[in-house]
Amino acid sequence: MIRDKFWEKFKLNELNETEWEALCDGCGRCCLVKLQDEDTNEILYTSISCKLLDPETCRCTDYKNRMMKVPNCMKLTPNSITEFGYLPETCGYRKVYEGRPLEDWHPLISGDKNSVHKSGVSVAYKVYPEHKIEYDDIQDFIIEFDD
Ligand code: SF4
Ligand code: SF4
Repeated sequence: MIRDKFWEKFKLNELNETEWEALCDGCGRCCLVKLQDEDTNEILYTSISCKLLDPETCRCTDYKNRMMKVPNCMKLTPNSITEFGYLPETCGYRKVYEGRPLEDWHPLISGDKNSVHKSGVSVAYKVYPEHKIEYDDIQDFIIEFDD
């Protein structure tokens, strides 16, 4: 069951499982290989994606078994969100945690699960799956988001 405008009325730890999953906008940004600047601790995203990310739909291709197949996949829960500083500013969980409104392109607002792709926020068709490319310097793949 999804309660009306639950993202405005409840805290993350008050959401039921269906609401929790619906809060993910499906951008796929958290599934990119990331680097951390040693000096500033800043998280740097790359255009290289986890082997389980579908580069077209931005969905995990084995969500149920992801923790077993990708040991460094971080499971997001209401209690762990404060530890997930790598989440992009646009992330639905981060926004609700920080008391910010969801964007118009969030599927919960638009009613269209593809609006995150149409808006250009998702990483669809912009990433290289890690098991399909070879590279000498991962720094060549560092990207910045416009939002
Ligand atoms: S960054 Fe947040 S909203 Fe985007 S896919 Fe990851 S968990 Fe979902
Ligand atoms: S295992 Fe799935 S959820 Fe975890 S980082 Fe990879 S694609 Fe994303």
